[in-house]
Amino acid sequence: MSEIILIVEDEEKISLVLADYLHQAGFETHCLVDGAEVVLWVRNHQPRLILLDLMLPGRSGLEICKEVRSFSEIPIIMTTAKVEEIDRLLGLELGADDYICKPFSPREVVARVKTVLRRTGGVTSQTYGLVLDEPRFRATLHGKELDLTSVEFTLLNLLAKNPGRIYRRQQLMDHIYPDQRIVCDRTIDSHIKKLRKKIAVAANPGEEFIQSLYGAGYKFE
Ligand code: CA
Repeated sequence: MSEIILIVEDEEKISLVLADYLHQAGFETHCLVDGAEVVLWVRNHQPRLILLDLMLPGRSGLEICKEVRSFSEIPIIMTTAKVEEIDRLLGLELGADDYICKPFSPREVVARVKTVLRRTGGVTSQTYGLVLDEPRFRATLHGKELDLTSVEFTLLNLLAKNPGRIYRRQQLMDHIYPDQRIVCDRTIDSHIKKLRKKIAVAANPGEEFIQSLYGAGYKFE
């Protein structure tokens, strides 16, 4: 599965604004206008989520939703210009994950995307603007990609899951090197140092996520 959020929308202004907000939140996007192209594109690219307009040229969002559901569980958020439509759509049980009524605020759409991804297992945890996407080893802070190595991600993920808990170096080493490879204590320190540097680039002033406790270890706060 790719990282891409597919935006299916025939009003260019709307799709541009959505793409812009989603990029800021750390997502990649692809926009399609013609309803007839959607199913094939989805089959070929396996997007992570689809924002699907109801009224489209080529093919209706309704038919597209039904067909995508026949072969995939990709999260789908339907968008429609009519509030009354939503009741009807709900009644049809198309299998969409959420419905949003136009005009919407792009901020609201991004929030719904995150909620649906969390619910459907795409985004595993979010704390203080930090989003950890476990299946993909990706972390974003305030929408900015942190670009972590797998070891850095694993460390951050462990610490962030148990805020306040102090981890000794040995525990962290056992966690990232379960095959008992012999590594020295300082390896952890150097990974944490790099990790903190990367976090600092995206963090707000005064924000610090990983604290070192002299002689004890590290904790997430
Ligand atoms: Ca439309």
